[in-house]
Amino acid sequence: MTEQYHMSSHDGTYTKEFEAKVTATYPEIVELERTAFYPLGGGQPSDRGIIEWNNTKTDIIDVRKKNRIRHMVKGDLPEVGSTVKGTLDWNRRYSFMRMHTSQHLVSAVVNELYNSDTVGNQIGEDKSRIDFKPLKLNKDQIDDVESKVNDYISEDLEVNISEELRSNLENNPEIRSSMSSGLWKMLPKSVTKLRVISIGDIDVCPCAGTHVMSLKEIGKVSFVKKDNKGSQKQRLTYVLD
Ligand SMILES: [Zn+2]
Repeated sequence: MTEQYHMSSHDGTYTKEFEAKVTATYPEIVELERTAFYPLGGGQPSDRGIIEWNNTKTDIIDVRKKNRIRHMVKGDLPEVGSTVKGTLDWNRRYSFMRMHTSQHLVSAVVNELYNSDTVGNQIGEDKSRIDFKPLKLNKDQIDDVESKVNDYISEDLEVNISEELRSNLENNPEIRSSMSSGLWKMLPKSVTKLRVISIGDIDVCPCAGTHVMSLKEIGKVSFVKKDNKGSQKQRLTYVLD
């Protein structure tokens, strides 16, 4: 298992540069003993950046997780056992952190106001989207969601990272309901503890992604598009400014 900086703390999440030992290489792949590069998952794209050693630099173009974390590289490979310095493309990553935290917040508000579940999401650098079911909001109702979301941002509610026992989460009615339905069934039985992201006292959600530590960092959420996907599902698209 590659240790991931962002998993246990905000300090880890805000790591822009780090050093790590190379544990294995394969053609166009580097594995490190620990990493700050986020692997594709949970609707959030992977990080990009560089690793460097001696006078050599190699681009990280994609990061995937399958048991171990694989940094997909374009360029030279470092020696196994040597130490490299990793540097994230921070603008890209920080956009994802703000967008991803907004996703939790929007999902929580839509659940609170309209009792609708989040059934999918795609985080982007410039815009992000969330699919809800059942949901069919009109323009005024979407404006209500937007102002409630931005009220919470101006309250600057705290974002916390913790680890909880699965058994406690499964029996907790406060957990956002997208997790309480189908998703539990997809988690292997061997997973007994989960990383949990909470926002003030309004949202608790199991998630392995990257998030900001303070809601104020989001700025302002604006909805730019709604698409009805069939009779029950609605997709809301938002931008930040
Ligand atoms: Zn998340």
